[in-house]
Amino acid sequence: MNRTEKTDILVAGGGVAGLTAAAAFAAAGFDVICVDPAPPATTEITATSDLRSTAFLMPAIRLLEDAGLWQALKSGAAPLRVMRIADAGGTEAEIRDTADFSATELGLDTFGWNLPNRLLRAEMTAHLLRLPNADLRTGVAVDHVTPRSREAVVRLSDGAWIRASLVIAADGRDSAVRQGAGISARRWGYGQKALVLSVSHPRPHNDTSTEIHRTGGPFTLVPLPDHDGTPCSALVWMDTGPEIVRLAAQDDDAFTAALNARSCGVLGRLEPIGPRRAWPIITQVASRLDAARTALVAEAAHVVPPIGAQGLNMSLHDIATLRDLCVTARDSGQDIGSSDLLHRYHRTRRPDILARVTGIDILNRAAMQESRALRDLRLAGLRALYGAGPLRRAVMKLGLGVSG
Ligand SMILES: Cc1cc2nc3c(=O)[nH]c(=O)nc-3n(C[C@H](O)[C@H](O)[C@H](O)COP(=O)(O)OP(=O)(O)OC[C@H]3O[C@@H](n4cnc5c(N)ncnc54)[C@H](O)[C@@H]3O)c2cc1C
Repeated sequence: MNRTEKTDILVAGGGVAGLTAAAAFAAAGFDVICVDPAPPATTEITATSDLRSTAFLMPAIRLLEDAGLWQALKSGAAPLRVMRIADAGGTEAEIRDTADFSATELGLDTFGWNLPNRLLRAEMTAHLLRLPNADLRTGVAVDHVTPRSREAVVRLSDGAWIRASLVIAADGRDSAVRQGAGISARRWGYGQKALVLSVSHPRPHNDTSTEIHRTGGPFTLVPLPDHDGTPCSALVWMDTGPEIVRLAAQDDDAFTAALNARSCGVLGRLEPIGPRRAWPIITQVASRLDAARTALVAEAAHVVPPIGAQGLNMSLHDIATLRDLCVTARDSGQDIGSSDLLHRYHRTRRPDILARVTGIDILNRAAMQESRALRDLRLAGLRALYGAGPLRRAVMKLGLGVSG
């Protein structure tokens, strides 16, 4: 029989959320083991690379700073100073109105920063490997969690056994830890997919993210750092599932033509860089965020369409909330995996998660409109919203998770 090891926290999942959780809890002084069945992350683009980028809004940046990650990440990040929404819902595929939100309106220098996921995972992995109290194990999955009164006993796929005070489930939307704990999740789709790729363009993005609405879903260009002096952006192109499958399969010339027709020329001629990858668009919410000795975070707990850069930013709220509760418990000699603490975590995060899931669901349905009349209504709503100062600022603050 394999030896049983002991740790404060076992993180199931080494995606961006799991790696951030491992770094945040290690920085707070806990012993952490993080396991993931995938091979170690590299910056190379391979068949299994995560081609998405993540726009981190300012509260999330503060967590990355606390976790000791931001210094290494910042050099690969592009600032987001303006969020531009453009409506191209008229008869012709051309921009008929735009509205700009500027970070300076909220007294901020930037809304946040955008980074390619594969860079994030590689930097976070390198950081964890340097920490004496963090142990990252790739190629290994959590097989089974048995909660006991004082700890959880976790069996890993390599036969190792770990005793942990707390298990953090960051093992993604199909979380085996969530299912093993008997927590149900409600999932619904929209008949949509997202095509994700990077593009270069002749005009600078000027730190502006541009979201173009027509039908089927938004087409969003998010700034990336320049590549060899050429401006670049990450593209998330949402449309009906069959349309995205068709676009993903097109040859390069046909795809580049379709891409440029849909972008309405906002940054000049777009040239794809590297491969394209399609992602299903769903919403999913777990019925609870806690089970015995277990806390769910990130996509194990909630999945939303990629609108308003909310997905991982909500996840980092989960991690910061759980870390703060655990630090307070430890500093007063309490158990960091007690059911009281975990209920409090559930009660603290649940209302914010439900409000954001509902808001993003409504925005996504509005963005999908095929009917001309509804597209005009969307435009009228957009104009009303962006014209009204207090409402506009309230929505911007909600997007940023800024309180007060
Ligand atoms: C197209 C697109 C664009 C997006 N853009 C943004 C954005 O700009 N801003 C934002 O905030 N969010 C964005 N999101 C959302 C964001 O990408 C996700 O929320 C985030 O990447 C998910 O992170 P995660 O770590 O929870 O899940 P995952 O990345 O799915 O990671 C889960 C990990 O768990 C591992 N795992 C699975 N089973 C086990 C097991 N049994 N034991 C241990 N490990 C296991 C997997 O190998 C995987 O590495 C976007 C999403 C999409 C689809």
